[in-house]
Amino acid sequence: MPFGSAQDKSQGDGDRRNLKPEKGLGPPRGRDGQGRHCRLPTANCQLLLPLLLLLPLPLLLAASAPADSTSLFPLEPRAYLLGHFHPDTSAGFVRLPERLSGEQRHWLRAEAARDLERLVAAAEAQGVWLYVVSATRTHNRQRALWEARFDGSRTSMGRNLLELFPDEGQRCRALMRYSAPPGLSRHHWGTDVDLNSLSMAYWESPAGRKALDWLEAQAGEYGYVMAYPAGRRGAGPSYEPWHWSYQPLSQPLLRDFQRYVTDSEIKGFSGAEQVRLDWRKFVFGVNESLK
Ligand SMILES: [Zn+2]
Repeated sequence: MPFGSAQDKSQGDGDRRNLKPEKGLGPPRGRDGQGRHCRLPTANCQLLLPLLLLLPLPLLLAASAPADSTSLFPLEPRAYLLGHFHPDTSAGFVRLPERLSGEQRHWLRAEAARDLERLVAAAEAQGVWLYVVSATRTHNRQRALWEARFDGSRTSMGRNLLELFPDEGQRCRALMRYSAPPGLSRHHWGTDVDLNSLSMAYWESPAGRKALDWLEAQAGEYGYVMAYPAGRRGAGPSYEPWHWSYQPLSQPLLRDFQRYVTDSEIKGFSGAEQVRLDWRKFVFGVNESLK
């Protein structure tokens, strides 16, 4: 597990306890009275321990957390997981270069972008053209996409869901086959991309088939896994050959999602009351290797 969780309170508490001076913890004194087992001069050690205890707990936890786990959450975890931030001004995110996304402006977590660049270059070297059509999406952006389909002003897979499903519960369930409710999109995390086309006709064409064959054989070497393959059991979005997820980050993030996000966070958009009834099936209806 390359990325653990920095917010493990029990671990942090344990670290803090270790910093408390205990009876007899002071540097051992030899016959000459020098602190032989202390890396700092005795006087500095005696000053340092009380100073450390004056530091606020978050600083102590940050100092004691492994470096790779602090990088799992570049922002406050709940705001980050739910998409309440701007990737263009947030630490840990980079804008994708034009060769990956043309003139569109897309952002990803830096680690995911780095390996996606390697993936795209490797594909190109073997005659396969890959490019990004969607990457990080904010909560507001996802809400606009969701509500346009919910209120019938845009179609979902060519269907007007408002006309087909006047009942809100049925409409939410139909929409969640193809769209994520705001707050529940993996695109919030900056770890997931949509490649080449959102049209199933493309992926069934010779060019799409060639790209998919390459991705299925090679993407894993760069950390990328298809989020919604065919044949999954249970609920979750339909088969999406275009949606690929950077597993080294998104797998631990999904595990932490359960911990940080509760029913009360599912709010602020049309149909939220219905989505709240069933959202875990959606979030966890992904490729087993991303859980
Ligand atoms: Zn997607």
